[in-house]
Amino acid sequence: MARNMTKTHGQKPSQRAAPVSRSPKTKADKLAIANVVLERLKAEYPDAHCELDYRNPFELLCATILSAQCTDVRVNMVTPALFARYPTADALRLATQEDVEEIVRSTGFYRAKAKSLIGMGNMLVDRYGGDVPRTIAELIALPGVGRKTANVILGNAFDINEGIVVDTHVQRLVRRLGLTREADPIGIEQALMPLFPRADWALLSHLLIWHGRRRCFARKPDCAGCVVKSVCPACEVCD
Ligand code: SF4
Repeated sequence: MARNMTKTHGQKPSQRAAPVSRSPKTKADKLAIANVVLERLKAEYPDAHCELDYRNPFELLCATILSAQCTDVRVNMVTPALFARYPTADALRLATQEDVEEIVRSTGFYRAKAKSLIGMGNMLVDRYGGDVPRTIAELIALPGVGRKTANVILGNAFDINEGIVVDTHVQRLVRRLGLTREADPIGIEQALMPLFPRADWALLSHLLIWHGRRRCFARKPDCAGCVVKSVCPACEVCD
């Protein structure tokens, strides 16, 4: 049964007029939930940002390639040594596979990641004068770079909102929030883009990832302390 929730936590006065359904069926329902989620998470996590450590687009590209199937914390333990030894694409492309493997071993899939890093360095030098390109098409042509990584680079290194980063936290949260039933990242991204302002796409990913790491855990979400529980169909403590 559809329920209309009228809690106003974190909402602007103009948003309080229309109750928000916790059982979204229409695009209007989803837009209303998306609006509440965005505003409340912005208020909850005003400092939300990419948790990978980097100082320039090249370092973010390296760190994001290493973050596949690995935590940001682990990646941040490895990258200082990697960046000290290979501070540029030109340095990285001259590295040996064995040396890079040794540095990135603890991030998992280290052979494939080392190969991607060296290949990426080669391609940056050969095609872009050592710089990181600024389009999805150019980025996904780099070794080890898919659409998610490309969106991370564009949104964080260049402030270009070309798409929405869909990682495991984003996947879990938006399905729990009833914003989509899509299961694959591409489908989820396509479903989310019409629901959120383009200017907020990069920030949205950070907000959802922060909420997933701090509250909406995979196994036991802390629904009681969640700022979006009043609009969440998956809330475990709501009536
Ligand atoms: S109410 Fe629970 S399931 Fe819904 S977003 Fe919050 S923590 Fe996650």
